[in-house]
Amino acid sequence: MTHLIIGSGAAGITAAGKLREIDPSGDIIVASSDTEPYMKMYLTDYISGSIKPDRILTGDLIKGKKNDIVFLPGKTLASIDAENKIVYFIDKSSLEYDRLLVATGTRAVIPQIDLDDDVVYHLSDSLDGVKRITENIIPLDKAVVIGAGATGIQTAVSLSKAGLHVSIIERDPVILKRHLDKIQSDTLIRILERTGIRVFVSRECSVIRKDRVVFKTGDEIQFDHLVFCCGQEPCSDFLTDSGIVYDPYVNINQMCKTNIEDIYAAGSVAGALCNQQAVKQAEIAAYGMADAKCPGLEGYHPFVMRDLELSFYGRFHDPDRSGEITLKQKHEYKKLVLDQGNLSGFIFIGDCRKTKTAVNLINEKKNIGDAELRDLMG
Ligand SMILES: Cc1cc2nc3c(=O)[nH]c(=O)nc-3n(C[C@H](O)[C@H](O)[C@H](O)COP(=O)(O)OP(=O)(O)OC[C@H]3O[C@@H](n4cnc5c(N)ncnc54)[C@H](O)[C@@H]3O)c2cc1C
Repeated sequence: MTHLIIGSGAAGITAAGKLREIDPSGDIIVASSDTEPYMKMYLTDYISGSIKPDRILTGDLIKGKKNDIVFLPGKTLASIDAENKIVYFIDKSSLEYDRLLVATGTRAVIPQIDLDDDVVYHLSDSLDGVKRITENIIPLDKAVVIGAGATGIQTAVSLSKAGLHVSIIERDPVILKRHLDKIQSDTLIRILERTGIRVFVSRECSVIRKDRVVFKTGDEIQFDHLVFCCGQEPCSDFLTDSGIVYDPYVNINQMCKTNIEDIYAAGSVAGALCNQQAVKQAEIAAYGMADAKCPGLEGYHPFVMRDLELSFYGRFHDPDRSGEITLKQKHEYKKLVLDQGNLSGFIFIGDCRKTKTAVNLINEKKNIGDAELRDLMG
């Protein structure tokens, strides 16, 4: 049995390791555009200097005789011939498979902003991208990050930790808008501002010159370094004509199977929200690929933003608000959502110490009492 995994991020590497554990004799091949496997989640730690480059590389997980996993670097998938179980790469080479896992993740979107020709910008979504950033920055430089989603906020925090003066510009009135409402966003903005980061919301760039952003209102912000963090799009170009359903994220069922027999997908290409979820999906896919019974679909995979004390999980926006318990302070926000006495979701901003306890309570699906509520709300 040949298991072919495309992509060597959190999902691809996790699936490879898990497959080896469950299927000691099968052939496992990981093919990736990257030259080395690494964890994107730790890229920003590389910018801030809080970890050494080798800490984000995950090659050790698949190298060595013990695991016997073949890693093919620099292989970009071009198309999938699902009928004949062959994939083709852009270098015209091909590989056959019995089971295929698509774990190609996402890439940064370049925004449609009017840029002067001499503008140099950076992206923080790849190892090469963050290496270029770190080679160029010096403490006290000015950095502007465009976009206040998860990547933008993480990037801004790490640049600030590296000693730069950082501004984040967001065109919407809230930051992390896929997840936060106005009150939650305002709390997070105050936390960011407390660390020295300037946050500009509801501000749209009119044009970007070599060293400054010019707003539609006419005012400007100077920068030495510009980083675009304007969203991510799935790496799924090779799916055209494959027969796999995607929209643009690959559609998968609970077992991480696509609509095509023997083809699985996991991680952010399949819409996983965060690293933990990508890892969980990869494990589930590995069990399916090896025809093994998956021990359980529930698991610990909240969104956790390192460095910033932000975590959430489950259904934490209750439409009728009847089941909500909320704590609002200047630099702290907590909300628990209860459904018939069970905890069904939470968001913690400013103090995430109870994240694991809350996730366990949700996963256990048992009624929670006053003492547990008091403990969670701190
Ligand atoms: C700067 C930054 C900070 C983040 N911080 C956090 C955080 O604090 N907490 C959190 O939970 N999550 C965080 N994330 C998100 C987390 O990194 C992702 O959820 C996780 O990387 C998804 O893993 P993945 O394996 O699905 O995809 P990826 O890590 O994107 O890996 C995809 C792999 O596929 C390869 N690939 C792509 N296209 C092709 C192709 N056509 N052919 C072959 N190979 C291909 C890529 O080269 C790469 O190896 C952060 C992400 C970024 C960019």
